[in-house]
Amino acid sequence: MNEKVNKRTGKLINIQDSLVQVRFFDEVIMGETAEILVEEKSLQGEVLQIKSDPKNPEAGIVEMQVFEDLTGAKIGDEVVFTGQPLSVLLGPGLLTSVWDGLQNSLYYLSKTDPYLRPGMKAPALDEEIKWDFTPTVKPGDTVKGGDVIGSVPEGNFEHKILVPFAMGTCTIESIIEKKAVNITQTVAVAVDNQHIKHELKLAFRQPVKTPIPFKERSIPQEPISTGTRVIDLLAPVAYGGTVGNPGPFGAGKTVLQHTLCKYALADIIVMAACGERAGEAVEVFKDFAELKDPSTGQSLMNRMCIFGNTSSMPVAAREASVFIALTVGEYYRYQGYNVIMLADSTSRWAQALRERSGRQGDIPGPEAFPMDIPDQIKGMYQRAGSDAATGGSLTFIGTVSPAGGNFQEPVTQATMDSTGGFWGLSQDRADAKKYPAIDPLAYTTSQYNGFISKSDREKILHTLQETNSIDQTISTIGLKKVPIDKYILYQKGTTIDFCVLQQDGFHDVEACSRPDRLEVINDAVQTLIDSEIQFAQGERDDDDFKQHIKSKFDLFRQNWKDWNYNAVKEKQIAQLKEKVDNFILQKKDS
Ligand code: ADP
Ligand code: MG
Repeated sequence: MNEKVNKRTGKLINIQDSLVQVRFFDEVIMGETAEILVEEKSLQGEVLQIKSDPKNPEAGIVEMQVFEDLTGAKIGDEVVFTGQPLSVLLGPGLLTSVWDGLQNSLYYLSKTDPYLRPGMKAPALDEEIKWDFTPTVKPGDTVKGGDVIGSVPEGNFEHKILVPFAMGTCTIESIIEKKAVNITQTVAVAVDNQHIKHELKLAFRQPVKTPIPFKERSIPQEPISTGTRVIDLLAPVAYGGTVGNPGPFGAGKTVLQHTLCKYALADIIVMAACGERAGEAVEVFKDFAELKDPSTGQSLMNRMCIFGNTSSMPVAAREASVFIALTVGEYYRYQGYNVIMLADSTSRWAQALRERSGRQGDIPGPEAFPMDIPDQIKGMYQRAGSDAATGGSLTFIGTVSPAGGNFQEPVTQATMDSTGGFWGLSQDRADAKKYPAIDPLAYTTSQYNGFISKSDREKILHTLQETNSIDQTISTIGLKKVPIDKYILYQKGTTIDFCVLQQDGFHDVEACSRPDRLEVINDAVQTLIDSEIQFAQGERDDDDFKQHIKSKFDLFRQNWKDWNYNAVKEKQIAQLKEKVDNFILQKKDS
């Protein structure tokens, strides 16, 4: 087609970590990508700034951020400008894929070399697989960017084949019949208003820094069943919503993301493992290939794709990987699917921005992050959302790993301002092995409607708050000073914490509470909070009586906990009500 015959090139004149300067004589476009040719490798970078060359009025200098390891690069190396912005390949085969931060297939690379080497390239999507294409338009039809021209089955999904979003109105000149084709073959030819022909394939490249548009953006409303009780009861997230999930190191952010991968009710999960430990990422790839999706019994990877850009990979690629992953999420949303994008961790992403702006000599903002970090974070979360016209949604849940667990730092603060929900993990709860360590009393909030009424939510939170303050009284001035009625309230709150908020993420039944179960649990919780339990004091003094009450509650909690692990059938699930009623009335079998 209309490829330029003269390739535009430049020469490397300065290297400063991932930031390089290139002298050029042609035209260069802001934001376009370029390849640095280093020996037999080509390293991808992005133009950040274009300046005049003080030494040569004929030339210009561009400043480029390079996403790949520059080992071996030297002054004078050739740079080829591509004319294309940073982009992602979209098409069938995205699901089940595992890539690095620049969409090189890690599966493909692992077949050629067990080690990841700088500059290694691999196709983003398998070019051999044949997909069963069924056309849905015919010659003479008018189409434009985003319109559907056909579909292929991709696992359990119908993958719609779209006209590339950048294209204007065109007329279909020809289209193949139902047939198996790979992503490199042309399935249709479309002619635009300038009479230019465009070959349409199953896959196309899409810039990643400009969002794929919504057809009709709508307010996220329907709650997602994540299966994690503390979330679904107290800080729910809706399809198309956004959540920030900060927590100190080791508090359980990554484990929570994996639990969401397994149990959150969504069609598709896009995961961006960004800047976290490499060993952790390798575990994910291995585990997830073997794990079964509890709702289909198939491999979890059938509904997933993963961008793995670990701490051992170039920092600059972290920035790219999050945008690339978001674009994949938007693409499936446009097709009408409910997608959840998980990013672990957005702090590592922000670090990449900090390093870059530091090298560029920008005036730093708080803690040396770029001044516009709040806008950048907001911009990222704003790409999530639901679309009433397609029925699809993109939910974005990002972990934040603030140094020292200090939530006052800029990335956590900006995330708080940008997301509809916030799940704060606390060191105290993690230390006490109260998992998931989401602390409902510290920072955890949600603007979304959940599975229980706002007033029920408030009532639970109020009880937990009182329990917390009684707990503090006990540890400061002692149990003696706590009146009996307060002590019973404290035991109720402790029961809610132990039996409802704490949840074993590694047990098939206990790990996931769906709405039907949640309703029974909430009824039980509300009944317990509202109840006046009559314990008989008899001859006991207050201390003994408290001990007696505690032992009764301990038994009850054990009973409830057993129910968590064992109740599977509808009838068994319903038995929780009986257990609570019997306990309140202090019947024998409570
Ligand atoms: P982070 O990502 O916040 O640094 P991780 O998710 O890696 O922390 O969790 C650290 C460790 O804490 C895990 O290896 C695991 O032993 C424990 N842990 C975290 N969450 C849970 C959970 N829900 N159930 C049981 N153990 C957990
Ligand atoms: Mg982690």
